[in-house]
Amino acid sequence: MPRYGYHCQNCGKKFRKFLTYEEYGKVEVHCPYCQSTRLKRLIDRVRFAKSEESRLEALESTFSDPAALAGLEDDPQAMGRMMRMMSREMGEDLGPEFEEVVERLERGQSPEEIEKELPDLGEELGSGLGGMDDIEDF
Ligand SMILES: [Zn+2]
Repeated sequence: MPRYGYHCQNCGKKFRKFLTYEEYGKVEVHCPYCQSTRLKRLIDRVRFAKSEESRLEALESTFSDPAALAGLEDDPQAMGRMMRMMSREMGEDLGPEFEEVVERLERGQSPEEIEKELPDLGEELGSGLGGMDDIEDF
């Protein structure tokens, strides 16, 4: 049964819930801490609901294959596409700097070039991607 990560918009806690594909989207999920239903789905790097668009399947296979993920460093355009997909899946506005970086990646600029041209962005970009990792631990 797939696990879905949620971030409670009421109390700010993160939790995971097991739902079948049939239940997902039909069953109302409550925060186990405060019972709020104001929840935001967190990206799950391994599993996505079956009903989601096929582009997410590409993302899923990327995440489950460390070699493919490593290869992205040499393929800025694929990296840009992946970052854009991640930001859509998270449903978060990551700000104009993020957009700028993604656009540059999609134009084929390497991350190193982007960091050189936009020196202030290195840290933000890193922390943005690092944020994805916390989800594994909670
Ligand atoms: Zn809550």
